[in-house]
Amino acid sequence: MGQEPIFIKDLPLEALETWVQTIGERPFRARQIFRHLYHRVIRSWDECSDLSKAFRTQLEYGTRLHAVEVVATEDAADDTRKFVFRLRDGSLIESVLIPDPPRLTACVSSQVGCALGCRFCLTGTMGLTRHLATAEIVDQVVHMQQDAGPGRRITNIVFMGMGEPLANEEALLPALNILMDPTGFGFSHRRITVSTVGLVPQMARLGRETPVNLAVSLHAADDDTRNRLMPINRKYPLAVLMEACRAYPMPSRKRITFEYILLKDVNDRPEDARRLVRLLASVRSKVNLIPFNPHPNLPFERPSEERILAFQEILQNAHLTATIRQSRGADIRAACGQLAARMVSS
Ligand code: SAH
Ligand code: SF4
Repeated sequence: MGQEPIFIKDLPLEALETWVQTIGERPFRARQIFRHLYHRVIRSWDECSDLSKAFRTQLEYGTRLHAVEVVATEDAADDTRKFVFRLRDGSLIESVLIPDPPRLTACVSSQVGCALGCRFCLTGTMGLTRHLATAEIVDQVVHMQQDAGPGRRITNIVFMGMGEPLANEEALLPALNILMDPTGFGFSHRRITVSTVGLVPQMARLGRETPVNLAVSLHAADDDTRNRLMPINRKYPLAVLMEACRAYPMPSRKRITFEYILLKDVNDRPEDARRLVRLLASVRSKVNLIPFNPHPNLPFERPSEERILAFQEILQNAHLTATIRQSRGADIRAACGQLAARMVSS
């Protein structure tokens, strides 16, 4: 053979059909492989008794089945489970499995670190090490499904782990394709959410190429505050971002979720809520309020419960759907914005 093995989870079904033909197999083999990889979530090619021994040997030597390996798991008091994965270059990333019956949500990472430096986010303090490959994104879900066991299927995927998914769309789009393929996991687009800080050109492309749900991390309803919290706002200020949201193609009944972290005395005042109402007036939206998860290295505080509820009430009185995100897994630092695995020399 002599060639470097390929990462098989990098390939959407069509690309896999092409690849199996290069090693002399018929295209339908790709579907069989897809079912093994993403429906049965196999751990080894030996489990695929419907493939000939010779073909399995080719797969064994010509491909790499796993792109990430689990190095640790940690359980929170609320049953949220955090996974630490090691990549081939030694980098570490984290993902979280959140049971919320009947749902089981996997929160997935898209990059090692993040370049965008939002001031309230621990991942943002790390800087960017590198993008994840498609296989590294998909394999997080495979490992979490293996861990959950055959009787418990993952029902929802959110790209809200480490990194900015739309800064890595070259790997993200094929990963979405694989996750939605009915031959494998078969996730409906209604059950996948991509969260972005608002990279405007990439949002337009996402909307053109997939029907998945979009969540926009807003966190402030005026440019001054947003500039201070999120450097990206200088590149795509609110007027530009909101225009992109209005232009976002949405299948009927869908709405954009706007995420809004509540930071004490920074963006949690009644006038901030009223400004948010005005900003969202012309978009099909729902708001997800996220009380800040504090950390000693981050210079913000969480507002009081009263303040949080008062903010929500102003939105609701203006007929906006506004939910408060219950932070899960805080005791194991698996909560929003707390994922910051570091590279370790093993
Ligand atoms: N980069 C993308 C997706 C990952 S962050 C984005 O920013 O949207 C996922 C969510 O966690 C975002 O809404 C982010 O703003 C939020 N988050 C980051 N730090 C947080 C913190 N300290 N407390 C609460 N939520 C936080
Ligand atoms: Fe990056 Fe999102 Fe964190 Fe901002 S909030 S630094 S975009 S991961």
